[in-house]
Amino acid sequence: MKETGRKINEMKLRMPSLSANEGMARAAVAAFCAQLDPGVCELADIKCAVSEAVTNCIVHGYRDQVGDIYITVSLYEDASVRIEIRDRGCGIPDVKAARQPLYTTDAAGERSGMGFTVMESFCDKVGVRSACGKGTKVILYKKLKRR
Ligand code: ATP
Ligand code: MG
Repeated sequence: MKETGRKINEMKLRMPSLSANEGMARAAVAAFCAQLDPGVCELADIKCAVSEAVTNCIVHGYRDQVGDIYITVSLYEDASVRIEIRDRGCGIPDVKAARQPLYTTDAAGERSGMGFTVMESFCDKVGVRSACGKGTKVILYKKLKRR
């Protein structure tokens, strides 16, 4: 799904990959999207997907280090939302494998490998671009119902 219509607003955020910033990122994106008058469920979907993507930057992208996370949210005239979440961390060697349900590289047994599956179920489309040693970009698209 490609976003259609004119871009009507855009927000950019940059924050260090501290777990304290995950909730802030989720709330800030939801607050920005609120101007499209989403439903409660749509807003919950967006929050959940953003939370998964940002958590991945923190725990996988930068692991024990701290680096910047970049978020760009674009709103379109047709009530669609594009959310780009990017890190400059380690990157994903095999994106296709990483997107499979239950796939995780977490050896500690704390992760379930369901982050990408959650993002896909809560958004209309999820794009992932990654390069080893350079970082990862996740793009979430969601078309909201017109009200
Ligand atoms: P869960 O999200 O259920 O806690 P998880 O994070 O392992 O577990 P996914 O979010 O689906 O599961 O991610 C799958 C795998 O993709 C991760 O285990 C990790 O290897 C890789 N990955 C995801 N995001 C990134 C990222 N930003 N940088 C590097 N690797 C990533
Ligand atoms: Mg995850």
